Amino acid sequence: MSMIPDLPADIDRVKGFLAEDEGQALYQHALQLSARGPVLEIGSYCGKSTIYLGLACRRNNSTVFALDHHRGSEEHQLGELFHDPALYDADGDVMDSFREFRGNIHRAGLDEVVVPLVAGSEAAARHWRTPLAMVFIDGGHSLAAALTDYRCWTGHLMRGGVLAIHDLFDDAHQGGQAPYAIYRMARSSGLFEDLGRINSLGLLRRL
Ligand code: MG
Repeated sequence: MSMIPDLPADIDRVKGFLAEDEGQALYQHALQLSARGPVLEIGSYCGKSTIYLGLACRRNNSTVFALDHHRGSEEHQLGELFHDPALYDADGDVMDSFREFRGNIHRAGLDEVVVPLVAGSEAAARHWRTPLAMVFIDGGHSLAAALTDYRCWTGHLMRGGVLAIHDLFDDAHQGGQAPYAIYRMARSSGLFEDLGRINSLGLLRRL
């Protein structure tokens, strides 16, 4: 594995579900692409992938738009498998990962690189006009959520830009199949060149 300059030594302590080889791949693609335009990620959670993308963007004086409503996906809710009590706002009876996210981005020195969009995908996309060099989809795993993310954002990818989709599981027992569904949709659209996979991360280049 190549070294990433300024990667926090305690990156593994940032909560999240991104493997190291996936983070490295996100970093390398963002480093190549972000000089041409900003990167947008959907589903920032506590900012682990945002840090990899942000470090690459910083080297190009570029920006990561980090989109997340910070109310958690289905599996993060109270009583669900990936619920984290530390990210639960008991007063409001809601998940709130934004506070943790902000702290992690600040500690990584990326306040001037990462622009949080605390909103749902559809609301954030409604007036969006900026061409994107890279789109990383790591949002909700329901089919509706994944389809919304795909439909809202892939049209904003510039030619030569990269679409990355997280949580591709060949076996349904490993996880939900919605990310795989939009991955297949992208691959059969004729709009992308297949760049292969790193672990559960699928990579496609907009033709
Ligand atoms: Mg994920």
